[in-house]
Order: sequence, then C-alpha cells, then structure tokens
Amino acid sequence: MVLYAAGRTSGYPKEPVDKGIRIYFLGGAEEVGNVGCVLEDKTGTRILIDYGLAPTKPPRYPDECPPIEHAIITHSHIDHIGMAPWLVGSHGATLHGTNLTADVSEIMWRDTYKVSSIEGYPLPWDMRDLDAALDAWDTHNIGEWFSIGSWNLRFHRAGHIPGAVMVEIETPEARILWAGDMDTRKSPNVLGALPIECDILCIESTYGGREHPPRPDEELRFVQRVKEVVSRGGLALIPAFASGRGQDILRILRQHAPHLEVHYDGMGTRLTQHWLNNPNSINNPKKLEEVWRWTRKVRSKTDRKKALDADVVVTTSGMLDGGPAIWYLNRLRHDHTNAILLTGYQAEKSGGRTLLDTGKIPIYGNLTEINLEIDQFQLSNHAGHTELKEFILNCNPKHVVFFHGDDTSRQEIAAEFTNSPSPKLPYNRTPLIL
Ligand SMILES: [Zn+2]
Ligand SMILES: [Zn+2]
Repeated sequence: MVLYAAGRTSGYPKEPVDKGIRIYFLGGAEEVGNVGCVLEDKTGTRILIDYGLAPTKPPRYPDECPPIEHAIITHSHIDHIGMAPWLVGSHGATLHGTNLTADVSEIMWRDTYKVSSIEGYPLPWDMRDLDAALDAWDTHNIGEWFSIGSWNLRFHRAGHIPGAVMVEIETPEARILWAGDMDTRKSPNVLGALPIECDILCIESTYGGREHPPRPDEELRFVQRVKEVVSRGGLALIPAFASGRGQDILRILRQHAPHLEVHYDGMGTRLTQHWLNNPNSINNPKKLEEVWRWTRKVRSKTDRKKALDADVVVTTSGMLDGGPAIWYLNRLRHDHTNAILLTGYQAEKSGGRTLLDTGKIPIYGNLTEINLEIDQFQLSNHAGHTELKEFILNCNPKHVVFFHGDDTSRQEIAAEFTNSPSPKLPYNRTPLIL
C-alpha cells in the first residue's frame, strides 16, 4: 500500500494527462473543509468532486476550478457545496448528488448568501448563479450506476449525515473510491458506511490519531447532564448544527428523556422537513417522524419567548456564531441554574471556542462574560482513528490519498500502515498521478 498526503497546488496544469489518474486538489487537502478536487484521465474524462468554502470571517475559498462539465457533490455541508453555484454560473456544470443533498443545498446556499450580505463579505456568486444551480442537479439513488465520459460511477452511503455519499468510480485504468466525510459507526439518523474494494482510495483524515469515546457512553453522559440541569430548575441550551447534529440530539433526548419539554429553533426546522420527505436516506424514518411530532417547533417570536420556560432548547448556530442561539444565551445568562451544552466541533475563533477559552462571547457586538455551566460532548459523525484504520484495511487499496485533515492527523493515520511511527508521506504540491 502506498500512502500520499495530498497538497494544495497552484496553477492548474495545461498539459493533458498521458497516463494514470490525475488527482488535483483545489482545496481541502491539508485542512478540514474548503474541499474541491479534480480527477481526470487520458480519455479526457474529467470530474470535480465537491466545491466548498471555509465559513471563516472572511470566508476562504478553494482555487479556481478549470472548465468542468460534471461535479459530484458528496453532501450538503457548506464546506463541500458553498462554491457550487459559482461552478454552475461560470462553467454550466451539472451537479450530481442524492435527492436529499440537492434539497438541503438550497437552504444552505440561501443562508450563505444572507450571512455574506449581513456581514458585508463579497461572495463570488450571486442569486442568478444560485437559481441556475437549483436547476443543475442530476440526482441519483444509492447503488445506481451512471456514466460520465468513459467512467462509470455509483454512490454508496457515507454514514456522515443523511444523503451523504461515497463515490465508487470505474475508469478504464483503476477503480477509485472517494470516501469523503464518512463514518462507519451508526448514529441516530444514519447507518454507517461499508468498505468497498478499490485500487485508489481517497479518504478524509479529520480524526487521524484521535479516538472517539464509545458513542452510547457519550450519549448517556450527555443525557445525564441535561437531566441534572433540568432537575435544579435550569434550562439546557444546546447549540447544534442545522444539518445532522441537531436531529441526532432530538432522537437521543426522545429515547432517554421523553418526559422533558424540548423546543427546536432555527434553520434546521425547514431542513428536517426535507429529511422527512426523503425517508430512504434516513435510518428508521418512522422514528424520526415520531420524534419530530414530539419536538416543539419554534416558528414565531411568541414561540421563542415560550421556549424560555422549556427544559431544553436545541438551536443554531452550532458554534454560537449567531443565529437564535445567541438570542437565547442573552436571556438565559443571568440565571445560574441554566447551562450551555456544546455538542460539536468548535472551530478556532468561533463564538463557542472563545467561550470555552475565555468565558466570554460576543453578544450583538459586545464581548460578554457568561457565568453559566458549560460542557462539551463528542458526538462526531466522522470516523475516529480506529474506524478509519479498519475501513482502509477492508478496502484493500493499492494507493491511499489522505486529505481533509491537518498534517498531524494525516501522519498519525498513515503511521498505522508503515513501520515508521512518523512516516514521511510523499507530499504532492504538483498533481498526484496514480
Ligand atoms: Zn467536511
Ligand atoms: Zn461534512
């Protein structure tokens, strides 16, 4: 097995491919998110996989994509889809994804547009590009073969979030598996990803070198903490991502604490409707329907005020970077029986990270001290170190390309497959040719 750490390159090569598969990262090689990667071969077949942005302030973008007719969109997280409207507006590209990914993308793009207008950051695409992108989808079911040029492709469940896929690609020279954001573990709303035998495996390495606590234990620790807060008369404020984590939290609470009064607020409300309309992408969709009926949806200002008397409020944004979460926090911060329970990754400089590090957070522009109990739980939907290692072994590839992770994570997962504890990965600042 030969291991590669993908590197971001500069300047798309002018010369055509003369052998093998050329793999060219526009972004997302040595970082989590901001993904875009061109795959091509000598038959002239060329596809792009994902085209996202990093939602930092200001946002960062992958390099400009060369002319492309077909893009595969693995899932609807903004760091994988944020620049797709540009692709459609500039190159007239067709977007290939699952039906659920297409539905949810619209909400994510509109939100990105809104946030960039409010914060005054220029976006490389406009509403016309967004409208064009809505008509550019060619959706495919999991397991259904389709072809692009001389390649045959099919989607497999990725585990990560509902609608997320891995892509198996049959080319005349090699079988490729693009395992983007993935998890082999079952989570409340999706079953795990299964390995696929391949020659070239491109895989995320977000959690290389880091293990997750066993999911059932962490879920119970979380529920226990919620119950403690409620029993002392407080409200548990749970900031959660709109696409995935929030719905997982609702299912966990419904299962272990059905007597609690749980309100749900923010962008996830419309998004969950799309989940319910695509039951094939959901693990036990009947259960989700039942959980959704049990959850009290906040749909107006009056609802929001009422939610202040609830036991639990689950809301966006997951990193406390705005959204209703800040409105709630501003009202809840004076009563010390309340608590903030963080359930996801808190990026550098995000509101949640600032709060964890300093005990303060910007509320409507004022850095405000928060004297509430704050706890954090590991309910990730990315494979941990052991899951990555087993998945790679079972795919039995000749080449493994690690991306979507920092240097340390990629070194540590690669070390599992070499005799050296800190292997020197071939670092490709020019395109990889395999
Ligand atoms: Zn990602
Ligand atoms: Zn993702």
